[in-house]
Amino acid sequence: MNIIADLHTHTNISEHAFSTLEENCIAGNKIGLDAVGITNHGPALEDGASHWHFKSLGKNNPGKMHGVYLISGIELNIMQDGSIDLEEEYLSNLDLVIASFHQEVFYPKDKNHVNDMLNEAITNKNINVFGHLGNEIFKFDYEDIISKCNKYDKVVEVNNHSFVQRPGSDVNCLEIIKLCKKYEVPIMVNSDAHISSSIGHFEDAIAVIEKAGYPEELIVNSSMDRLQDYFKHIKGIDILNR
Ligand SMILES: [Zn+2]
Ligand SMILES: [Zn+2]
Repeated sequence: MNIIADLHTHTNISEHAFSTLEENCIAGNKIGLDAVGITNHGPALEDGASHWHFKSLGKNNPGKMHGVYLISGIELNIMQDGSIDLEEEYLSNLDLVIASFHQEVFYPKDKNHVNDMLNEAITNKNINVFGHLGNEIFKFDYEDIISKCNKYDKVVEVNNHSFVQRPGSDVNCLEIIKLCKKYEVPIMVNSDAHISSSIGHFEDAIAVIEKAGYPEELIVNSSMDRLQDYFKHIKGIDILNR
């Protein structure tokens, strides 16, 4: 399985991540990737980036940096009521919007609460991808949500960082990936790197994807053609020519 882009990485704009945007691109190029996405946390997290970061990142994306195509993005927070933590005027300038649950701003009451808020978020046109859905703390009705992803044009992320950082993710991710296969929902494989040396490492994620027998042609970052088509589809941009 060949993954050519790492589209969920953090930079030291947040204090809990340690590399610069340029270091992430250099590391991506060095490990043989064609594209790197910069997706810092939304402003609701104490350590998230401000709207200034996302405004500037979206408007000043040079297209290519240190040999890789640069994807400007964000990892938004899904809030307690299913809303998100950045306004559309900033999101519309970005290439990629990943939305995730984080304990610091979302306190799951039970499985129904998480499921209800995902049903709210899934209708939000600004969200492209759901990040690290396999988190044990945020369990939901997998079949209910995955079966609706294509209707609302949502991609499911398989997050390599989860297998180290979020216990239970291996079992949950396998179940989620099998449902993605059943409903032909595209997935995206990312490192969620918080330091440049983690960029391009997807080994644990790939092992689970292979175990599920998920088809490579549905992975949006498994070839440059697929990635190019994906961004044309969601944002009307040609990432190779801008
Ligand atoms: Zn996250
Ligand atoms: Zn992240």
